[in-house]
Amino acid sequence: MSRVYNFSAGPAVLPEEVLREAADEMLDYNGSGMSVMEMSHRSKVYDDIIKTAEADLRDLIGISDDYEVLFLQGGAWTQFAAVPMNLMRNGVADYIVTGQWAKKAWQEAQKYGKAVKIASSEDETFSYIPDCSDLPIDDDADYVYICENNTIYGTKFHKLPNTKGKTLVADVSSCFLSEPVDINNYGIMYGGVQKNIGPAGVVIVIIRKDLIRDDLDEKVPTMLQYKTHADARSLFNTPPAYGIYICGKVFKWIKKQGGLAQMKARNEEKAKILYDFLDSSELFKGTVRKEDRSLMNVPFVTGNDELDAKFVAESKAAGLENLKGHRTVGGMRASIYNAMPKAGVEKLVEFMSDFEAKNK
Ligand SMILES: *Cc1c(COP(=O)(O)O)cnc(C)c1O
Repeated sequence: MSRVYNFSAGPAVLPEEVLREAADEMLDYNGSGMSVMEMSHRSKVYDDIIKTAEADLRDLIGISDDYEVLFLQGGAWTQFAAVPMNLMRNGVADYIVTGQWAKKAWQEAQKYGKAVKIASSEDETFSYIPDCSDLPIDDDADYVYICENNTIYGTKFHKLPNTKGKTLVADVSSCFLSEPVDINNYGIMYGGVQKNIGPAGVVIVIIRKDLIRDDLDEKVPTMLQYKTHADARSLFNTPPAYGIYICGKVFKWIKKQGGLAQMKARNEEKAKILYDFLDSSELFKGTVRKEDRSLMNVPFVTGNDELDAKFVAESKAAGLENLKGHRTVGGMRASIYNAMPKAGVEKLVEFMSDFEAKNK
């Protein structure tokens, strides 16, 4: 067996310890005589798994009883619709468009009401975060929406927008649990777990309880009403049971590393290695405005498409996988999520340095 350093944006690298533990428990989970994949989601043993996962997540982030934690399906994409369907009362919402995912969410919301783009960084290929200190927030806005870490472009809101008292909704798919957050700044924080937490198939929605309504239009599909899942503690129908089990293991793993403050320190250390190299390189160049750089997704280019393609091919041969940039940006992108070891980033930088020497 040989494992590569996997820089995929998602589904992405998971902690090796977690994968090994899951492998050990594959045939017989905790004396149950069956795999977690085979057990009833109504069984006592599964109930412990999902309740423990929720408790550990609450503990990691510091989530009070004012919030529900929901383990859902349908990916982040389903939330692009669920958010407006559940939160629009006045039928108005403000969107800050800082990348493809925010744009898709904004476009999807237009199906359900007036979704207003109040800021954007599309003029410069989403390479920065616009100033959000004094935006024209609608008086009637039911919420203000952001994508907090832009997976494709490698930007991050290091300061949350001034929503002028309106509810903040954030897609945190690619920065979930990468650093401490104050959940009380958010009405909804949600994300697909396949970037930084677990296997594809689970989306976690943390929602302030007063936003969960029982007066929704009855045409809103049962499965898309937050109330359905809040009332049933994420066991309304069959949940993505195995995925939630792996998420639970990752929560335990993060706790063991020292929690979110420690994750942040490690992520900063890793990102610095890569960014420092980019800033000193004569061949490679980061594509993002410095103060808006993400700790998780690092896009870079050589400025020459052929050289980029050569880099991607040669890095793959060297055991550094999935460094090809998103088709809309080109070049390369290294996703260095929580589970990417420092040694992986060091190896990448060493490879880049060699490549630069050979291709000057
Ligand atoms: C990957 C990603 C999505 C899309 O997630 P799906 O689970 O495929 O729907 C949405 N938002 C962000 C920030 C992402 O990184």
